[in-house]
Amino acid sequence: MPQKIQVKNIRHGNPGLSGWYAILPEPEPTHVLEEDLTADWLVIGGGFAGLSAARRLLQLREKESIVLLDSIRIGEGSSGRNSGFMIDLPHDISSDSYAGAVERDIRQTMQNRYAIAFAAKTAEDYGFSQEVFNPCGKINGAASEKGDRHNREYVVHLNSMGEESTWLNASDMKRITGSDYYLSGLLTPKTVTIQAAAYVRGFAQGLSQNVNIYENSPVIAMKRADGIWKVNTPKGSVSAPKVILCVNGHLQSFGFLKQRLMHIFLYASMTRAMTTEEIRRLGGEPSWGVAPANPFGSSVRKICGVGGHRILMRNKFHFNSTMEASDRDIQRTVRNHDRSFQRRFPMLKNLEMEYRWGGRLCLSWNGVPVFGEIEDGLFAACCQNGVGVSKGTLSGILAAEYASGFQNSYIEDYLNEKQPTRLPPEPIATMGATAYLNWQEWRAGLEK
Ligand SMILES: Cc1cc2nc3c(=O)[nH]c(=O)nc-3n(C[C@H](O)[C@H](O)[C@H](O)COP(=O)(O)OP(=O)(O)OC[C@H]3O[C@@H](n4cnc5c(N)ncnc54)[C@H](O)[C@@H]3O)c2cc1C
Repeated sequence: MPQKIQVKNIRHGNPGLSGWYAILPEPEPTHVLEEDLTADWLVIGGGFAGLSAARRLLQLREKESIVLLDSIRIGEGSSGRNSGFMIDLPHDISSDSYAGAVERDIRQTMQNRYAIAFAAKTAEDYGFSQEVFNPCGKINGAASEKGDRHNREYVVHLNSMGEESTWLNASDMKRITGSDYYLSGLLTPKTVTIQAAAYVRGFAQGLSQNVNIYENSPVIAMKRADGIWKVNTPKGSVSAPKVILCVNGHLQSFGFLKQRLMHIFLYASMTRAMTTEEIRRLGGEPSWGVAPANPFGSSVRKICGVGGHRILMRNKFHFNSTMEASDRDIQRTVRNHDRSFQRRFPMLKNLEMEYRWGGRLCLSWNGVPVFGEIEDGLFAACCQNGVGVSKGTLSGILAAEYASGFQNSYIEDYLNEKQPTRLPPEPIATMGATAYLNWQEWRAGLEK
């Protein structure tokens, strides 16, 4: 029986131009798939998951041919438009303080560090600078008594996991960030911060020595006959016995997990490059990353490098079951970002935002990934539950290992996860999720 998949929704409507992407030099001209190829492996999706899957395949099956397809330019999608925290510790964004059960969190931390070690070796092999891949840790900044309490609870949890952390008081926070907005901070040293678009673009460039990468080449249909998947794009095709789907929430566009994946847009803004006088007025360290003590608050990064000194603000979640967001949605978030920015940096009144953008997260209600062989010869590494920088990397590595018969106990962990639970029907799902997100954002108060 031939298996057939018709892909819907290949317009990828990522609203706004990501600042990470915009401040990089023009990318190399794109290679669009315009022929019929055969390969041993096809990876669909060129984000953290897809790139990691392709690199792991290359390590495990050196002599086999690998093709990777993406529907847009690599770096334009969510992997190039996030806040760039590659987080090692538990980070349950649906909890008050990121923490879960101790044993499970210890295991998750080991998994995340497996992914981070892989990313670190990638960064070394492809010669990434510290601006692109910086193992500088992450600070959970608290701007309110409630946030401070979350941080204190989190320290207790980290201690029970045997994890080190450093408590920062208000003057430490000012010394680092230049802002006196924060009451306290909790530094956990093993998170890596990345220049998101530079990381995935550099990753793809490094891989392209051995992997055939085609961009602007969306998969529109797939069919399996006689043990081979034939995968069509508008101008070509790839035939391969094994395919790894690394498309995060777009798994739904391939017809899988209907009504089980939650699509949420998250927004960020980046300032223009600061003048020398603005850099002096702000003070603080040249680059740092502060995540909010409450998951629904604002992440803030100060960066310096090829694009100059800039500040990134990230907050505001929108549930969107259509997977499309518009520039109007960005306009609605502008006020939040500007307010959050002015609260923290009143000394930088005239520092405008130059770039504003949104991007997709894919979550399941019960917080599980979608992983494994979902059809004969078709593997999935999807649904990263909002922390795809490390978890996307991990699921891509594990999918490549699983599909090529490599043993790893983390694969068992992933295979033993439950299925994503079914969501309520529309419009109840949207109404419920929107009310929940608004309530959580309201509760985040000054952490926003
Ligand atoms: C503003 C913002 C801030 C965030 N901050 C963080 C953070 O600090 N830390 C963190 O861990 N996570 C963060 N995230 C989430 C993170 O970016 C995602 O979880 C991550 O990008 C998922 O990686 P992925 O490789 O699974 O999927 P994606 O990055 O979405 O990559 C999937 C790729 O598949 C391609 N694709 C889809 N359909 C097709 C098709 N039909 N044919 C070919 N290709 C296709 C897409 O074009 C895309 O490039 C943030 C997200 C946003 C939007």
